[in-house]
Amino acid sequence: MKVATTVETKLGHLEWKKAPETHITLKNAGADSPCLRCVDKPCTKVCPAKVYEWEEAHQKIVVNYENCVECGAARMICPYDNIAFDWPAGGMGVKYKYG
Ligand code: SF4
Repeated sequence: MKVATTVETKLGHLEWKKAPETHITLKNAGADSPCLRCVDKPCTKVCPAKVYEWEEAHQKIVVNYENCVECGAARMICPYDNIAFDWPAGGMGVKYKYG
């Protein structure tokens, strides 16, 4: 019998070592940030690890870099090319146990 698997279940198989510094930043997070006029905010939808969250109260994207699975999806889908990504420092970030 085939068992249904969710993204959350798959993410539960991963391990992370939190880097002291973020490896993801917004190129423009200021008063003229493109995030303010980005209607669909696709980074908040495509990221399987929910790294990007729209904080309504502060009108900004919060980057939970410690959850990043380093897939690059958000960076590719951002219509304003507003996401700067670098790899976490050696030994930090996500660890894929089965691959
Ligand atoms: S997709 Fe890009 S421009 Fe849109 S909210 Fe996310 S980071 Fe900002």
